[in-house]
Formats: sequence, structure tokens, C-alpha cells
Amino acid sequence: MTSARHPADRRGPLPARAEVVVVGGGALGASVAFHLAEDGVDVLLLEADELASGSSGKPIGGVRAQFSDPANVDLGNRSLELYEDFANRPGADIGLQQPGYLFLLPGADDVALFEESVAMQNERGVASRMLGHDAVRRLNPYVDADRYAGAAYAARDGFAHPKAVVEGYAAGAEWHGATIRTHVTVTDVEARGDDVVAVWTNHGRVRTDAVVLCAGAWTRDVAAKAGLDLPVDPYRRQIGFTPRLETAPPRIPFTIDYGSTFYFHNAEPGCLLLGIADPATPVAFERTYDPGWLPLLRGAIGACAPELVDVPVTRGWAGLYEMTPDHNALIGEATGVPGRVLYAAGFSGHGFLQAPAVGEAVRDLYAGRTPRTDVSGFSADRFATAGPTLPITGQTTTSPGRRGPEANII
Ligand SMILES: Cc1cc2nc3c(=O)[nH]c(=O)nc-3n(C[C@H](O)[C@H](O)[C@H](O)COP(=O)(O)OP(=O)(O)OC[C@H]3O[C@@H](n4cnc5c(N)ncnc54)[C@H](O)[C@@H]3O)c2cc1C
Repeated sequence: MTSARHPADRRGPLPARAEVVVVGGGALGASVAFHLAEDGVDVLLLEADELASGSSGKPIGGVRAQFSDPANVDLGNRSLELYEDFANRPGADIGLQQPGYLFLLPGADDVALFEESVAMQNERGVASRMLGHDAVRRLNPYVDADRYAGAAYAARDGFAHPKAVVEGYAAGAEWHGATIRTHVTVTDVEARGDDVVAVWTNHGRVRTDAVVLCAGAWTRDVAAKAGLDLPVDPYRRQIGFTPRLETAPPRIPFTIDYGSTFYFHNAEPGCLLLGIADPATPVAFERTYDPGWLPLLRGAIGACAPELVDVPVTRGWAGLYEMTPDHNALIGEATGVPGRVLYAAGFSGHGFLQAPAVGEAVRDLYAGRTPRTDVSGFSADRFATAGPTLPITGQTTTSPGRRGPEANII
């Protein structure tokens, strides 16, 4: 249904007015714009740079429904359904592959936590399961399975191409009548009395009734223009790629060492993608790839998959994690500010895998309908009222089993 546009098409004049202005052209902004436009809303999406030039420019993004709390499981699971149907709606090839996600668990306590999470996931329709050493070896022969106390796996998880998702949703939104403008920075949100009346940009003013903030790691600044405190901080995260390996890698799951945060999976034919979170990363808008992280990466590879310890890593990519204090997303409609200001930001490393279901939920919040997936626990009000703990049902972390700020490991 959708067809790729030339980027120049999106550099035309700004409309004088739109019913809703979406700020940010990453996975979230594009998904929100698509779902609103499909619902008949007159949408204008404004992106300061090119579409998918922020965190959603990651070459490959993991998708999964394995989490430790029901709210994140439901967002991941519904998004998987929508990604599986992406070729039909909005209509684009996103390179979805589903070799599964394999969590390698170093300690008996990790195994106990994941057993609880897997039981909860199964109740919610996610076919995850615990695995023993032999099954791990069969799924990923690189892994030294004996070093782990256990593992958890869900075959439906996998990865896809974020840029293709952004373009697919953007083109779908345009097909339904949305306008997209790139190289337009939102600099202010104008309110009069109890209403939002306009956004200001580097190219002038656009009258509007509502704003949806989807500015990723940059959300804190633009939210402040609307009088809103959205606590999102940027942290650099890096990935590396091997060249085409002499012995082509087998098809392996998206494999994560839950102890070190090291992860790896297939990339282009014959290549592997490798990553790890560097715990020493400061808060900064720093997106330059720094090969100085390679010793950390190699140490973790050696501990998990010794056969790969000397594998060449010939190129890399750096982007920003958009972290909130409790490492859970901010999704909702602002209270205590004039007019209608909605937000979907601060996904803390999970925005790609949650974007489809969140777009659907924001569409329903805007229309005054109860969202199919319950996002009430993700309201930013939790920081104003309850401190840095997400009051969603169950556990307060976003990764299966692990509690605390180290929860986000991909
Ligand atoms: C190394 C790495 C690995 C990751 N792996 C995964 C993974 O496996 N699975 C997963 O789900 N997630 C992963 N993530 C996280 C994921 O990439 C993000 O959560 C997701 O892309 C966030 O999308 P977004 O639309 O909120 O933000 P972005 O993609 O950053 O988009 C925000 C956009 O807003 C624009 N903008 C900012 N301010 C303004 C303004 N004032 N006016 C107009 N436009 C503005 C920016 O230019 C940007 O394009 C990873 C991230 C990194 C860095």
C-alpha cells in the first residue's frame, strides 16, 4: 500500500494548521502519526533532522515480549503481532526475523526470577520457556552453556529494521492524509487560557489543538516548552559488527548474557552484531562511535562465547538510550498544563519493540477511548506522586526477572 517518498517531498512549506502536531520522526512519532491518521485525525509530524536520524536509526532492533511485568509484556506482545502484520498494515517489508530471544542466566537467583516471569508471560499468552544446557547448545553453539545456571527463551521474538519501520509508518501516515515535514525543529508550544493553540518552529508557527511529544532522548527540552517535566536523560550505547566470517555463523537467537549485558545475533548474511552496555557511560548527547569500548566487549564475549573472543569487529554504530529514572517509558496525556499535550518517550532502550502498540494506545488516548493495551501505569505522573517506582501491576523492572536500575540490558 505504501510507497517510498523522496526526502525532498517532506521539505515543503508548513501548513498553517493541523489538528495534532507530532514532535519527532523516530519509531514512536511515526507510529503515532500513522495510527492517528488512519483514525481520521489531521496530523502534522515535525522532525528536526531526517526521519529515523535519532535512536531509531539503529541498523537492527530487537523485538520481544519477554519482560518481568505484565504491562511491558503486553506492549511487547501486541507489538509483535503488529510487526508480523506490517507487510499488510501499513504495508512495508521491515526485514522481520524471528529466531527467538535467549536469555543466559548466570546464577540460581536469576533462574528463580525468570521462572516467575516465564509463568506470568505464559498466562498472558507468551510462549516463553526455561531451557537446560543441551537446548542452549543446540540453539546457539557459540555459547559455553556450562557457565550458566539456566536460560529462558521465546521463539517468537527476534529483530527487524527500525529505519524500514519508520519509513513504513511515515508513508502509511501520509497515505491516510498526514503531512510530514523534516528539518523543522519545534522550539515552543503556545498555550492560551486552557488550550494549546500553536507550536513554534524554526520555520514559523503552526496552529494546532494538540501536541504529541515523541522526541526520544531530546524529550526533556521540548516538554519543558509545554510546561511539562518529562525526566528523560541520554546515554550513549554502542554496537559492533563483524565482517562476513570465514565460517558462516549458524542461525542463532538474539542471545543475551544477563550477567554482563553482552548480546549478539545474526546480522547481514555471514556477519554478527555484538553489543554491551558500558556501565561507566555518562549522561550526554554523545553519538560518536568509540572503539575504546572493544576491550569491555571482548572480555564479555570471552566469558560467554569463547570461540568468538578474537572475532574481528570492523565497524560500529552509536546511538542514545533515552532513560527515565525507573527505566520504563512515559506514555500518557499531561495533567496540570494547558490544553492537550500527550507524550510517548523515554523508552529506556525498548522503544523500537514497543512502538506499534504504543502508537495504537496514543491514538485511543487522543480519541478518549480505553486503549487495547493498558498504558495507565506509564503516566509521567508517577514521578510527581510516587517517586521513581513504576506503579504498574507486578514488578517494577522492564527486563525479565531483574529488579533495579540495571534492568535494561539491550
Ligand atoms: C545501541 C542501541 C541499541 C538499541 N537496541 C534496541 C533494541 O534492540 N530494541 C528496542 O526496542 N530498542 C532498542 N534501542 C532503543 C530504541 O532505539 C529507542 O528506544 C527508540 O528508537 C526510540 O524511538 P523514539 O522515536 O522515541 O526516538 P528517536 O528515534 O530518537 O526519535 C526522536 C526524534 O525526535 C527528533 N526531535 C528531537 N527534538 C525535536 C524537536 N524539538 N523538534 C522536532 N524533532 C525533534 C529527533 O531528531 C529524533 O529523530 C536501542 C538503542 C540503542 C542506542
